[in-house]
Amino acid sequence: MTKMLTAVLAFSLLAFPAVSSAQTMFRFPASQLADQCGNGGCVVSAYRDYGGRDYACGGVRYSGHTGIDYALAGGFSKMDYGVWAMNAARGYVESTVDGYYDRCNYWDQGNPYAACGLYTANYIIMRHPDNTQTWYWHLKAWTQQYARGTTLTCGNWIARVGSSGASTGPHLHFEYWVPGYGSDDPYSGACGTPYTRWTAQGAYRGLPGITCQ
Ligand SMILES: [Zn+2]
Repeated sequence: MTKMLTAVLAFSLLAFPAVSSAQTMFRFPASQLADQCGNGGCVVSAYRDYGGRDYACGGVRYSGHTGIDYALAGGFSKMDYGVWAMNAARGYVESTVDGYYDRCNYWDQGNPYAACGLYTANYIIMRHPDNTQTWYWHLKAWTQQYARGTTLTCGNWIARVGSSGASTGPHLHFEYWVPGYGSDDPYSGACGTPYTRWTAQGAYRGLPGITCQ
């Protein structure tokens, strides 16, 4: 019990790094134009999992989920139309993978290598001025707009949302990584972290704002 409590405390200290003025803050990582994620075009289908709860103590998560899923309400037809993922803050394109099949519609967490399996997602990882990363996963094949190493201001169209990899339908898996710690949650709430990383977090199950830092 003591060991467990110590582990929890250590985790808490690591989980809540102090916010400094140099902290990179994020905008919503996709277009909110009317024909894109605007007007209900994108919905939150899963938040980060805190052992059965999401950051707001709700149940919009699945076991072990480390990022946030923004799903296209219009499914594959909306994916074919084209919805842009956007870089959430300024930084540079640190790594990319492209060319994998992007119409995956089935994934079994108990048998993760079935169907499209793991490690077959098209993705972009951005590195930001405070050394944090943002991850953009399951992208549509051959829609990436910037080569590795390119420096970008905040809020560019970087690739289209797709369904490559461990994915049951078109969605953007957005994830935030802290150097020396790992994956963390940009949302703050009663069951999550006390500091938001969004410039405007927005309502629960709504979408964050599009203001760049
Ligand atoms: Zn996800």
